[in-house]
Amino acid sequence: MASERARAAIIGAGPSGIAACQVLAERGIPFDCFEKGSDVGGLWRYENDNALASAYASLHLNTSRETAQYASHPMPEDYPDFPHHTQMLSYLEDYVERFGFRDGIRFQTEVIGIEPVDGTLVDGASVDGASVDGAWEVTWRDATGEVQSRTYTAVLVASGHHWDPRRPDLALPGTFTGQEIHSHHYRSPERLADKNVLVVGIGDSAMDIACDTSRVSGMTFLTARRGAWIIPKYLGGKPIDLVGRELQSRSPIAREVATGALLNLGSSLFARKIKQIHGRPEDHGLPGPKGGLTGGEVTASSEILVRIGYGHVTPKPWISRFDGDSVRFADDSVERIDAIVYCTGYRISMPFLAQEILDPSDNEVPLYRRVVHPDRRGLYFIGLVDVPGPLNPIAEAQAEWVADLLEERVALPPYAQMQKSIAREDRRREQRFGSAKRHPVHVDFFPYMRALEKERKRRRGRPRASREQGAQEERIRVPA
Ligand SMILES: Cc1cc2nc3c(=O)[nH]c(=O)nc-3n(C[C@H](O)[C@H](O)[C@H](O)COP(=O)(O)OP(=O)(O)OC[C@H]3O[C@@H](n4cnc5c(N)ncnc54)[C@H](O)[C@@H]3O)c2cc1C
Repeated sequence: MASERARAAIIGAGPSGIAACQVLAERGIPFDCFEKGSDVGGLWRYENDNALASAYASLHLNTSRETAQYASHPMPEDYPDFPHHTQMLSYLEDYVERFGFRDGIRFQTEVIGIEPVDGTLVDGASVDGASVDGAWEVTWRDATGEVQSRTYTAVLVASGHHWDPRRPDLALPGTFTGQEIHSHHYRSPERLADKNVLVVGIGDSAMDIACDTSRVSGMTFLTARRGAWIIPKYLGGKPIDLVGRELQSRSPIAREVATGALLNLGSSLFARKIKQIHGRPEDHGLPGPKGGLTGGEVTASSEILVRIGYGHVTPKPWISRFDGDSVRFADDSVERIDAIVYCTGYRISMPFLAQEILDPSDNEVPLYRRVVHPDRRGLYFIGLVDVPGPLNPIAEAQAEWVADLLEERVALPPYAQMQKSIAREDRRREQRFGSAKRHPVHVDFFPYMRALEKERKRRRGRPRASREQGAQEERIRVPA
């Protein structure tokens, strides 16, 4: 059991933070959760008064209902395969009501600092396997503006990483004089009616927004510096991530090589089927992806190819220069553009955390299993992953592991082993994406969930088991 004095602080009451609340409440670990906005849901609360959320009116889950639910709380069966953001929010609200931990959340309360108190620095091997408790002074500002602090033995950071828009460093000649919007601020297409719109990006938001604007715009153009495989939302009449999950349970080979809930493209047969349906992106005028379907970048959209086929979205090669209200592309074509929508992702920001503790500004987030700060006791991160699949079950599993650690049911591996594992992860991302910094918190769903499962079996006080476990980890291979 957690020691009497143990009390955790949870920062954020989005899907990750409430998963952490649920798990800690269930285990009887006392906590205070701090939420900047006036209600739960984070990104899924449309026009959230935390001023951080980026949901747009047409947003649906890109992961299917069954895969996106917490293990402890099924989504309603009458929900569609890909629920709307309003349905996701109701689901999250039901979750909080069902488990009854709303009283543990302080709303309209922003954490503005967390400071280590003596004893939270891990001094290498000498503390291997020792207590995971630290001491952190958490400072917050409430709705009245009052600033207060309290010391906690653990801090679970669940503040989200899709709220600080990243404008790409385009390094292109010329100046664009039209309207520029980041997808973070995009809500609905009306303001772009009859305009010529250029959508920049090739991820889920770029696909959704290009389809959205193409219904009202004069013309919607789509460009991206890099390519991605465009995969259908359905395969054989089922959401594609469910097909992948079934493949996993049937085939041990697919299980070892599957790359994520949304991809699960371990078998070449599966990849071939997808190519039969959608062809290659180049067949539709989109940029060609680097790498094959199993390890390359993938975006799920059945709609974009139809919008292109209808002539309502026109793919363009990458931009070569701006010229006032015109954009010149690499094939020397020039289009007059009224508005550019940048769907170019987000920076990871944690303004309440001193840079010497963690500095994600250079896209480096060296955490063990993407959760544990190897150098600081009692500092954990929930939901700080980018996964081609659903986040809810991952956040829940991470919280279960952290609760195990707080209750001292399981141990962390030796310090050196954690550092080795972090370096190994960096190499994996380097091989896959060309640079570990391009996707600093990327994980693949199934291998990652299995790794968490193994952590939850790492018993305390048995260093030999840790070594065996290390050898096992070496055997988990993720396809490039
Ligand atoms: C457009 C878009 C679509 C997406 N679609 C999917 C999808 O279909 N499926 C999926 O699994 N994932 C999807 N994601 C990823 C998405 O970010 C996560 O699913 C989920 O919202 C992350 O939950 P979270 O709790 O980690 O972060 P958030 O939802 O961002 O919640 C973080 C919470 O922390 C609070 N907070 C932040 N800082 C502080 C502070 N200093 N003090 C107090 N509170 C603070 C915020 O107010 C917020 O409520 C999508 C992301 C985007 C941008």
